[in-house]
Amino acid sequence: EAGKTIKEVRKRYEPKRISKLASNENRLGCSEKVNQAIMEASREIQDYPDPLASNLRQKLADLYQVSESEILLGAGSESIIGMLCRTFFKDDENAVTANGTFVGFFVQSGVRGIQVKKVPLTKDYRFDVEGILDAVDGKTKMIYIANPNNPTGTYITKKEYRNLLDEIPENVLLVMDEAYHEYSRSVVDYPNSLLNRRKNVITLRTFSKAYGLAGMRVGYAIAQEELIEQMIKTKLTFEPTRLGQAAAKAAMDDQSFVEKSVKAVIKEKEKLYDFFDEHEVRYVRSIANSVMMILEDENAARSFTEKMMKQGVILRRTHAFKLPNCIRITIGTEEEMNHFKESYSKLLEMSEF
Ligand code: PLP
Repeated sequence: EAGKTIKEVRKRYEPKRISKLASNENRLGCSEKVNQAIMEASREIQDYPDPLASNLRQKLADLYQVSESEILLGAGSESIIGMLCRTFFKDDENAVTANGTFVGFFVQSGVRGIQVKKVPLTKDYRFDVEGILDAVDGKTKMIYIANPNNPTGTYITKKEYRNLLDEIPENVLLVMDEAYHEYSRSVVDYPNSLLNRRKNVITLRTFSKAYGLAGMRVGYAIAQEELIEQMIKTKLTFEPTRLGQAAAKAAMDDQSFVEKSVKAVIKEKEKLYDFFDEHEVRYVRSIANSVMMILEDENAARSFTEKMMKQGVILRRTHAFKLPNCIRITIGTEEEMNHFKESYSKLLEMSEF
């Protein structure tokens, strides 16, 4: 099964090398400044962290030119999604999203028993904005959009975003989950939800992706103060951790690492498209740090993932994202991507795919 840990794959298949391209992590690691900051902060781990994460919040507020009171930090943006689900829904209220989107939203809304209306993706694997608007009813409390989306890497455009803002009722919250926005922000018609902010929009971002801090668990919401004040009541007092707060601050001080990571992903992604074109593989163009392959059916996806795993390449099947015939490939380093391509070529040579 996909998503196995490196340890399990090593033990089971004993491949010569392992490339884990399964969890949309930053394969370049993180900034060295972060490692130093973690070492320093580790001398104080006997003390609880600042529950308000004031320094980090202030730094983010300065970066985005918003007020500190408009920012809420949590143990990853998935934790913030949990807060959203705990804070805003009355028993009979529903949420609307796509059927092929970030599993964390389904998990967190499921825990709270929220009815989620799942609108099918368009034929080209994009959020169907019109369909989502049609699904909104008098009991809808929230629309959740991952932009760019996981696992497809597709996005809603500036025009579609404006349309959403114009059409949704004011009492419906629009959650824009922009976990991958650093990878996408140079795309001309990709909208930045922090510009021209509306009262009912909540933007989610994270240090887990381009900043390379997935293991530290630091994410945040930016929204109007009134919403943040409500959400904060459902936050665990001491998240994010002391080390997480220190790491995120240091990461923000090294934007060159983020730029380097983004550039490397864009370069390897283009090379992967070329490889796929050459071999007539179907895939979806992505503005995130992963690319989705489209296979014949669920069996083909399962079998391909298994065969690649035997060669040490760990990929993510997307059946849990309601896309059973697809596979998501996280863009790794040049070496890891070569490993992917060589392993795939071997399967082709053996006529196994
Ligand atoms: N949102 C999206 C769209 C994601 O793809 C992910 C992780 O894969 C997350 C949120 C969760 O990120 P975090 O590590 O901040 O909880």
